[in-house]
Amino acid sequence: MSGGHSDILVVGGGPAGLHAAFYAAWRGLSVQVLEARPELGGQLQALYPDKVVYDVPGHPVRLASEVVNSLVAQLAGLGVCVQLGATARQLTAEDGGWRIDTGSASYTARAVILAPGLGALTARPARVLGADLHPDVRTEVPDATSLSGRQVLVVGGVPQATRAALDLVDAGAAVTLTHRRAGFRGHPGQLTRLTLLQEAGRLEVLAPWVLDTLTSDGALLVQGGLHRHVPAATVLILGGYLPDLAPVQTWPLDWQGDYVPDGTGGQTILPGIFVAGDVTTSGGDFKLISVGLAQAAIAANHAVHYVKPELKVRPGHSSEKRA
Ligand SMILES: Cc1cc2nc3c(=O)[nH]c(=O)nc-3n(C[C@H](O)[C@H](O)[C@H](O)COP(=O)(O)OP(=O)(O)OC[C@H]3O[C@@H](n4cnc5c(N)ncnc54)[C@H](O)[C@@H]3O)c2cc1C
Repeated sequence: MSGGHSDILVVGGGPAGLHAAFYAAWRGLSVQVLEARPELGGQLQALYPDKVVYDVPGHPVRLASEVVNSLVAQLAGLGVCVQLGATARQLTAEDGGWRIDTGSASYTARAVILAPGLGALTARPARVLGADLHPDVRTEVPDATSLSGRQVLVVGGVPQATRAALDLVDAGAAVTLTHRRAGFRGHPGQLTRLTLLQEAGRLEVLAPWVLDTLTSDGALLVQGGLHRHVPAATVLILGGYLPDLAPVQTWPLDWQGDYVPDGTGGQTILPGIFVAGDVTTSGGDFKLISVGLAQAAIAANHAVHYVKPELKVRPGHSSEKRA
């Protein structure tokens, strides 16, 4: 079984987890981040990458995906290890620290910072007749360039479907975008582009059409008694994400529903396990990026002191230190 050891293990690569990782690593500790999704960024990247966020301190008007890029950029050079597609499942006390198993790997650390937000964001499964007949059905947005030159059918009205269709056209794929309703969601600029590409004949939009069945070489759509076969080498069925806290809710942290009680410094009732972000009881109704970032800074510095008592809890000012 693969895995590894670090001073601090961060569960969740959303804003709280990323900022906790930054602080612990910046103070000189080794840090491993486990993220269930194939990408970092938590809700910002999975649920609203193209929405403008107005209340992140110091960034008056930023796309959520740009906020994520900045948080990730801040990790550069700090040696933080990131494991994507890794869902933390089992927690075991081991050698004065903790072991977390994902099912395929085992990670050990002296302290854990739990920042799972609403839960592991997993793509809605594709429930459609004939899904087993088609050779390439996906529910996660792939790297668009990997589908360059292919015929791709994108199914869905969520912002991810709009973005995927545009990215795929840019990457040189032959794209059909379909949804059972007439409208698509996304940034106004993206929706305008969708229309322009459609008018230019560079993107086929079929809406409202309902995905009826997948075939070995594409899909059958229906609308008001009409049937239409759309050839596609790849079918992307994008129905959004479902959060799942269950993998960590078995941990004995005195869960209050979907929240973990956090004491001073984000400490939970288990020694060396800290929490930050949306999952904390102290955050309450303030499920906000700014709140999660502050909690992450506090929890990470307490975790640093817990692992290395010779290091003070208070980090000092970054402006006083050399980069
Ligand atoms: C549509 C929408 C708009 C929003 N707009 C704003 C806004 O304008 N301003 C604002 O401040 N806030 C906004 N929010 C809220 C903000 O996104 C959250 O407060 C923030 O994302 C919480 O950060 P987090 O790191 O605690 O959790 P998350 O962002 O949820 O990240 C948690 C990460 O942990 C991962 N994870 C969970 N369980 C596991 C596990 N067992 N193993 C490994 N990984 C796991 C998840 O996959 C996820 O990537 C918005 C939320 C939504 C849904």
